[in-house]
Order: sequence, then C-alpha cells, then structure tokens
Amino acid sequence: MARIVMKFGGTSMAGTERVRRVANIVRRQQAAGHEVAVVVSAMAGETDRLVNFCREANPVFDPAEYDVVVSSGEQVTAGLLALTLRALGCEARSWLGWQLPIRTFDSYSNAKIDSLDVEGLNASMAAGEIAVIPGFQGVSEEGRVTTMGRGGSDTTAVAIAAAIGAQRCDIYTDVDGVYTTDPRIVAKARKLKAVTYEEMLELASVGAKVLQTRSVGLAMKEGVRVQVLSSFIDDDATPADELPGTLIVDDSEMEEIRKAHGMERQVVTGIAHDKNEAKIILTRVPDKPGAVAHIFAPLAEASINVDMIIQNVGRDKGETDVTFTVPQNDLPRAQAILESKRDDIGYNRIITDNRIAKISVVGVGMKSHAGVAADMFRSLAERGINIQAISTSEIKVSVMIDEDETELAVRVLHTAYGLDASDEDA
Ligand code: ASP
Ligand code: MG
Repeated sequence: MARIVMKFGGTSMAGTERVRRVANIVRRQQAAGHEVAVVVSAMAGETDRLVNFCREANPVFDPAEYDVVVSSGEQVTAGLLALTLRALGCEARSWLGWQLPIRTFDSYSNAKIDSLDVEGLNASMAAGEIAVIPGFQGVSEEGRVTTMGRGGSDTTAVAIAAAIGAQRCDIYTDVDGVYTTDPRIVAKARKLKAVTYEEMLELASVGAKVLQTRSVGLAMKEGVRVQVLSSFIDDDATPADELPGTLIVDDSEMEEIRKAHGMERQVVTGIAHDKNEAKIILTRVPDKPGAVAHIFAPLAEASINVDMIIQNVGRDKGETDVTFTVPQNDLPRAQAILESKRDDIGYNRIITDNRIAKISVVGVGMKSHAGVAADMFRSLAERGINIQAISTSEIKVSVMIDEDETELAVRVLHTAYGLDASDEDA
C-alpha cells in the first residue's frame, strides 16, 4: 500500500460527465490498495471567466479580492468531485485551503506556500476516506484567502505529496505525457518515459506548458516523484502504477530507468519553443560602467523578467546597442519604464519587436558532451534561419529567431538531434 496524490487539470474537470470519469479513475486507484488524496483545478475556462468578472467590476487590480473571486472555481470542482465519489459509494470529503490549512505568505494573487498542516488529512486518509483538495488556494497569515498564480494547482498537488510523504504525485491532464517536442509541430515527436527535474524545469520555463514551473522546482527540492499522464483513458488502460505517462525524477532514478529499459543516452532530450517573448533594442547606450545597471534595475524593480541579453560591441566612440527580451505581456510596461528613464540611461532610440520566438534544446547529456550549440547553429544556418540572440545554461541552448520560422526550426532540430520516432515506434 502506498500514498498517492492525483491531480486533475481543468479539461479533465470540465462538466459533471468528466468529473464522473475522474471519480472512476480515483476509485480504481483506491481499489488498487492505495491511500488517495486528489487535487483539482477549476473547470477549463472558469478561472479566465472569473478574472474577467474582476476586471469588469473594477479596472484597478485588487489582488486580495481577486483571490476571493478566482479561488472559487476550485471550490466548486472539489465539492463536485467529493459528491460524485460518494455517489459511487466511496468515502470522500473536501478540504478547502483554509481548512487544512495551506498557509501562504501574504502575497495575494501569486502566493508562495509557507507551511502545510496535514494532521487531519492524514487521519482521514488512514481511515479510508478520499481527500479532495481544491488546487491553487491557500490562506494568508492574516487569515484571508490567497491563490498561487495561474496554473498553481500543480504546485498544490506537489506540496501535498511532499507533506503526506506520497510515493508519487500523478498529474492527470489532456496529454499522455511529456514529448520530445510539440507533437502538433512534429508528427514524429516521441513521448518520453522519464525526464529529470532539471530538464523539466528548463522545458517548462521555455514554453512546454505541461506543468507550472514552480511545481517542478518544488518537486525537485522535496524529492517528489511526479508522473504526467492522461485522464482521457478507457477502463482497460494501463494502470497509473505501471507508469504509462512520463516520470519526472532525479538523476539517479533516471539512470536506473534508462538501464532497465535499455534506453540510449541522448545528448538532447527535448526541444521547446516560446512565442511569448518580445525583443527590445536600445541603441547608442553609453559604453561605460553602470550603463546596463541603469537599464535593468528599474525593470527588476517592476518584477519584469529579462531573459536573453546581448550587448553589441561599441560601434562608434563609447556607444553600444543593448538587445534583450521580456515576456510579451510585460512589453508595454517595460517600454514605458525605459522611456521614463531615458535621461538616466542615455540611449538614442528604443526599438521593439513582438515577432520573435525562442527555440531551446534541452538535455542533461550536454553536461558531458561538447558541440551541442555548434550543431544547433549549423543546422539552422543550413536552412537559412537567422539567429538574433543566444543564451545558454549547463543543460540548455536557446536562440532567438523570427517567429515565422518557429515550426521549421523545431522540425530541423528534432531531426538533427536524432529525436524523430522511427517507423517501428509509430
Ligand atoms: N484554475 C487555475 C488556473 O486556471 C489554477 C490551475 O488550474 O492550476 O490558472
Ligand atoms: Mg495547468
């Protein structure tokens, strides 16, 4: 017997019919002999609808009241799932964020978990009751409801798994795992049996939107084994315990899985693309100490995440162009801030461009293998794709290209790194 946390996303919870399907999956997991806690998202589209109500009610963003409104979607699905499980003859009850409680710091609308009290939960699960927990919500130090940022139910699930010592946190979604790249772009994309936390962090943060990035960081920190798998399955589908999805694990378990399945060690594990960045160029910035600090300090203060940065070689006497990227949503704000600081920074022109994409190749194999970046640049050059900026980490190489070339670049790289499924795999 083990403890399992099961998390169901918005598409899995959209409507009573789908909630019944979910209840059946939960019942089967319990029947396999496990103690089960379930974390749910709001029905697909519901959180967006609630966000819009807030905007209509008051154009000025009030994060504390926003949380009161947007957290309600998960309260509905948690209650409905408990009701449906009971209709199937299971013992089940819901536990709202404040009831457990899941304590968070007072940063409304994007709260971080401080601590979790699972005494009541443990007792109820040990007595055979299925615990149903709304994702995304917690309670602040001052006793008000908080939410954990969009996609935050994944983080709730991982936090619960860590707190109750679950053997696994299964994230049920509308895809059956994590793929080498977006299967809508590359028909020969392959489902990965397993990835490491580090790889998943890079893939999640560069646009492979399967899990909230923060949940992966938490899983890595707490050593929670996560499986991504589909909830759109038949009764005779492979049981979750036989690991039909993609496991997210540490390096040593990854190594065991590789050996057990006779898998080759790949240098590149996956290719991600992200069209949600925008480029900013400041021309003729003074080429002297402190100049870039003047650019990036005010952006950091406004919590705008700057990603790729390049500073060109000074062209004329003592001047240089600085190019960088920010999330597309933040572009208007970033532009306004930079314009207001124009005298401090001392640039000539500000040029912005939304039509860029970031393509990243990710793999732990890069740590011990040289030449990955060179292969990437050569493959792109052969297809006439121009690289506008580059950034790297220990396990990732990213390039900025024209947005129109995204699909071509992903396909070319998927083939170049030997990731295409062979016909036998299909
Ligand atoms: N319902 C929230 C959202 O749509 C949280 C979640 O589903 O993870 O962002
Ligand atoms: Mg999600």
